[in-house]
Formats: sequence, structure tokens, C-alpha cells
Amino acid sequence: MPSPRLPDAVIVGAGPNGLAAAVTLARAGLHVRVLERRDQIGGGLSSAELTLPGFVHDVGSAIHPLGFASPALRDWPLHAFGLTWVRPGAPFGHVLPDGTGVVVERDLDETARSFGRDGAAWHALFGPLVAHWRGLLDDVLRPLPRLPRHPLTLARFGIRGVPPATLSARLLRTPEARAAWAGLAAHANLPLSTPGSGAAALVLGTLAHAAHWPFPRGGAQALADALAAYLRFLGGEIETGVEVRSPRDLPAARAVLVDSSPGVLLGLLGDWGTPGYRAWLHRYRYGPGLLKLDYALSGPVPWLDPSLRRAGTVHLGGTLEDITRAEAEVARGVAPERPYVLAAQHTLFDPSRAPQGQHTFWAYAHVPPGTPDGYAETIEAQVERAAPGFRDLVLARHVTNARQLQALSPVFQGGDVNGGRGDLWGLLARPVPSPTPYRTPVPGVYLCSSATPPGGGIHGMSGYWAARAALRDVFRL
Ligand SMILES: Cc1cc2nc3c(=O)[nH]c(=O)nc-3n(C[C@H](O)[C@H](O)[C@H](O)COP(=O)(O)OP(=O)(O)OC[C@H]3O[C@@H](n4cnc5c(N)ncnc54)[C@H](O)[C@@H]3O)c2cc1C
Repeated sequence: MPSPRLPDAVIVGAGPNGLAAAVTLARAGLHVRVLERRDQIGGGLSSAELTLPGFVHDVGSAIHPLGFASPALRDWPLHAFGLTWVRPGAPFGHVLPDGTGVVVERDLDETARSFGRDGAAWHALFGPLVAHWRGLLDDVLRPLPRLPRHPLTLARFGIRGVPPATLSARLLRTPEARAAWAGLAAHANLPLSTPGSGAAALVLGTLAHAAHWPFPRGGAQALADALAAYLRFLGGEIETGVEVRSPRDLPAARAVLVDSSPGVLLGLLGDWGTPGYRAWLHRYRYGPGLLKLDYALSGPVPWLDPSLRRAGTVHLGGTLEDITRAEAEVARGVAPERPYVLAAQHTLFDPSRAPQGQHTFWAYAHVPPGTPDGYAETIEAQVERAAPGFRDLVLARHVTNARQLQALSPVFQGGDVNGGRGDLWGLLARPVPSPTPYRTPVPGVYLCSSATPPGGGIHGMSGYWAARAALRDVFRL
């Protein structure tokens, strides 16, 4: 039951950005109410027993380097509200075509040494950013057209992050280092020849060496639950099972922050908002979707190269050239025969997620629209090549397609888990080109989802910056 007290601010949607916005406002002393359409909070940050009882799977996000290092979340006392971070043996691994594993260690020097003649180049790519990683995150996890706080670090980032990932890959010569770079860049869900595709590789690679790639013990849901518990501690309220379709569904409040898609915002604005703003929302573009597989396994993944068991995340898809081809095919509307697969093996480091001795496995591939669920076999074949005998361990499999992802949250339209294209234009006009793109033309109404900067990923920074704008504009705080 909501309290009779009218809220100062209402948040539509309890995804990580909605919860981060709510906490930011509640920390400023405001009374906040969050309305979530599903019965479960978290949006893309949630967990469920998707396969068999006792197997906890992450419905959306699985690996949380940004969540761990986020300038907002890292300062909040979430550990006091049940959050424990698990750090796998190594941040990530990459499978080469012959099954050999490339394991990228937390230690930059150790990783550089393992890359032999590419050691110096790997060090040159990441070393200066690792040394100033907090400053880098301060500048990249915010709207882009702002004066940087750390101009030198941002300039270093820009030199390698703005050009296509394939261009920066020319600094590297060994198949191992080039493949590891491609595996990082492909997180962006863009062809690797697209300007800006190197940015994801730089941020994720920097965090691998500076902060690790951790995940919450017990499932991604633990982070959403910790945010919700902290919010309630601050006096905030959360109502689930409440879909906000029109302004009539909203309680009176001085500010409304919408953790949803530009399309849903359009519906909420009704006839309000300028034609220009509405046109931007109509034009908002999405990237390809994905097909996701969750497994309950009777044992750990039998990688040909056992060193891959040290890694929480594993990239499959072969060489730099293979991955470049696969991601370009997806952009052209072709489902690749040998896809780039992003996988996570939580239970090797967090046994609480499965019955004793048994395991979960999380994997997805980018796919063009209309890809049938049967494509799961192609993704699974990619895993089986790297880990012969994998299929024999499968107790149950759950497939999630683009349509189901969109049902999970309107933010993931067409299954685009980044909530909108992440190319340079998609970052500059998210959803409008403005130094404060969270503001709408309607006073007191803000967009706070990953359809605003800095875009996709669990970091809460879209919510944080939207809340900061509301605090300034509406509450003069
Ligand atoms: C399969 C998958 C894998 C991913 N992997 C990773 C990963 O490993 N690491 C990582 O950092 N990120 C990952 N992501 C991305 C990350 O999950 C998203 O970027 C993030 O969840 C976006 O947060 P959000 O709050 O903007 O939106 P969402 O998480 O989509 O939350 C929006 C919430 O608002 C609710 N809502 C929307 N409209 C309304 C309405 N009208 N009324 C009431 N409620 C409403 C929705 O139900 C939802 O709960 C992944 C996402 C998916 C789907």
C-alpha cells in the first residue's frame, strides 16, 4: 500500500536507472515513489529460476564492471543492504579458433607479459587509462558535450576510442591480443568498423585491469534489491504491478522521472512537448537485438583449454577478423554461421546460484531482427566447439528472444539491450542533442533510462544525472 503522503517525485520504472534516480533524490531529502509495471523490480538487472528449481539465472545483465566502478553506486553503502561483489579468478577469457584460451588477468603487467611482442602495445593502450580510471569514468559516464574534468585522460581515450575498433587493432600484431581487443569491442553491438566502436573496448579493458569484472553474489537481482533496500531506508517507496500509460496514472508530484523508452515517454507526454522534441523521440534508433541462452548444467563447462575456468566472462567467436565479419553480418541482417558469443560462468565463483556441484551458464549472440529461436543451435555449436562434451552436461536450457526482451522492458526495443544505438551519433543525440538531454520540454518531466547518456550498461548514471537535473531545476537543491 502506498503511503497517503504525496511524493515530491515519482519515478516510472524500477530498472537500475530508475532506482539510482530514486536514491539520488531520496539522499537529497525528498520523498520518492517508484512505480514498476512488473511484479519484480530490476528490469534488465534481475534474476530468476529460468530453467530448474535451485538454478538462479540473470535475466538480463550478468557481469558488472560498470556497476562496481560507477561513480554513483560505488559511494553508496550498498554492502549494508545485502550486496557482496564476487571477483572471479580473472576478468575475462577469449577462445581462439583452435580452442586455445587467452586469459586477460586483472594485473596489467602480467597480461602484457602474456601477450609477448604485443605486451608493450597492450600496456600503451590501457596503462595510462588504468592509472586514471576514476577520472576517465567521471568523464565518459555523463553527457558528452560537457567540459571534461580530466582533459588529458579524456584526450588519450578519444584518440583510441573515437576511431573504429578495427583501426586501433592495427597497433596489435599477435592473434591473441587482437582477438582479445575484438572481444571487448564487440560488446558495443556495432560493426567493429564503426567510429566509436573502440570506446567500449577501452572502457571495459581499462576496468578489467583497474577494478575487475565482478558480479553480485546470488545473482544480479542482489544489486537491484540492495538499491531498493537503501531507497526504503531513506524513506522511499516502491509499488510493483503498476504500469504508467498516461499522465492520469501518476500521483501528483513536482517531478516525474521516466525510466523507459522514448516511445513510452511520447505516450506519457500526450499532446505536451514541442513538435521538434517529439520528432527527435520518433527518430530514435535502435541497434540489433540478441538471442540469449541460459543453461542448467550437471558440471562446469569442459573447455578444451582449462585456463578458461579462471575467467568469469568468456568471449567466443575466433580471431579479430572472424568477429569483425560476424558483427558486420548482423548489421547487414544476416545471422552469422560462427557468431560472436558473450558468455558468463558465475557458479565457478559463486556456488550459491546452483545446487551443489551443478552449474549455470549464461550466453548470448547479437542477431538481426526476425532471427528464429532455432538459431540457439548455432550459438550452442560455437560453445560445443570450444568445450566438447558441453551438450552432454545440459540439464535444461532456456531461450530468450528479442521479443521477450522487449516484453521484459520497453527500453530493450527490438531486443537492443543497450536501449539505443551506441555509435557516436547515438551517444550525442540520446535522445536529443543537448548538454542536459534528460530534460523534456514539459517542466518537471525527465527521461532517465539508458536511452539517455551514458547509454547501456548497469551503472545507474543515467538515473543519477537525470535526478541531478531535477534537483537543480525543480527543487533548487
Ligand atoms: C540480456 C541482457 C544482457 C545484458 N548484459 C549486461 C551486462 O552483462 N552488463 C551490463 O552492465 N549491462 C548489461 N545489459 C544492459 C543493462 O541491463 C541495461 O543497460 C540496463 O538494465 C538499463 O537500465 P534501465 O534502468 O535504463 O532500463 P531497464 O533495466 O529496462 O529498466 C526499466 C524498468 O522500467 C519499467 N518500466 C518501463 N516502462 C514502464 C511504465 N510505463 N510503467 C511502469 N514501469 C515501467 C520496466 O518494467 C523496467 O523494470 C544487459 C541487458 C540484457 C537485456
